[in-house]
Amino acid sequence: MTALHLRGVVLPEDEPRDLWVVNGRVRTTPVPNADTVFDDGYLVPGLVDAHCHIGIGIYGPVELDEAARQAETDRDAGALLIRDCGSPLDTRPLQERLDLPRIVRAGKHLSRPKRYIARLGVEIDDPADLPAAVRAQAEDGDGWVKLVGDWIDRSIGDLAPLWPDDALVAAIDAAHDAGARVTAHVFGEDALPGLINAGIDCIEHGTGLTPDTIDAMAARGTALVPTLANTENFPGIAESAGKYPAYAKHMLALHARARQTVAAAIEAGVPVYAGTDAGGGIDHGQLAEEIIALAGSGFGPVRAIGAASWSARQWLGWPSLTEGAPADLVGYESDPRHNMDILRTPRRVVLRGRVVR
Ligand SMILES: [Zn+2]
Repeated sequence: MTALHLRGVVLPEDEPRDLWVVNGRVRTTPVPNADTVFDDGYLVPGLVDAHCHIGIGIYGPVELDEAARQAETDRDAGALLIRDCGSPLDTRPLQERLDLPRIVRAGKHLSRPKRYIARLGVEIDDPADLPAAVRAQAEDGDGWVKLVGDWIDRSIGDLAPLWPDDALVAAIDAAHDAGARVTAHVFGEDALPGLINAGIDCIEHGTGLTPDTIDAMAARGTALVPTLANTENFPGIAESAGKYPAYAKHMLALHARARQTVAAAIEAGVPVYAGTDAGGGIDHGQLAEEIIALAGSGFGPVRAIGAASWSARQWLGWPSLTEGAPADLVGYESDPRHNMDILRTPRRVVLRGRVVR
């Protein structure tokens, strides 16, 4: 394979420098006879979509060929490392395709009967069985397990936690013993203390965060992936929940303060990362929109881009563009720190050392 050469400002740095790529890895010292594929612009370590669903479409689970197209769409938008936050589909065959983004699989969502979207996850009748189910998903996945933390309880007519605190403690301990981290879907307030105190590693959405639970996350270093694009769907969810007025009102209230909630979490020092929730009612390939939304919610451009690149890579255990690192990077014509719109149109995408765009 021919060596590649790229020259540009490597974010978050300020001065241009040269990079070479040999056998899929970054080299920082000159390599002779390299083919220059990028020579004047801005380079960003491969973008990370920290909340994505490869294998879920608008109408539910999809087949592998459609899942591959979803992954291609995300890749062309610059997302080269995807934390798949739960999928009904076994996407391991996609991990073998060198032209598709790296996928960190969380396996299947763990929920209870009638307490999540039908057909997507594993439904557990008795919460006492949660630790065993978590162990099974930890063995099957790539280091993450996804719980549904709360959902509408139709007998109450509002959001409510799925799991008692003791089941969460045992389940999260089981995951950690198996070397996996745990995250949970949470919209409301009430499920958060139990999850955070049980030592969960990350919260998805987190629209119900309050000053107390924000402080608890900051103290423990619990991450937050706020999926701001998803929260824009809350008014629609409320509108279609006619039989459950308390739930509808709750969703509208969570939506109304969603941006403030994220800003408060950022301000408190909660580690926040970019996730689109593609597949969860959101189209694939929208990572730029999430970065721009995060920038406007208290992060500013540099940290928002980091939340979808170098910071998120470090959190997931992947290096950025250092000597010997995997050559996954995205090139832009102008500086996305000053013109965030350019994030929508990557000029060059290099994945595993190959030019894919
Ligand atoms: Zn999701």
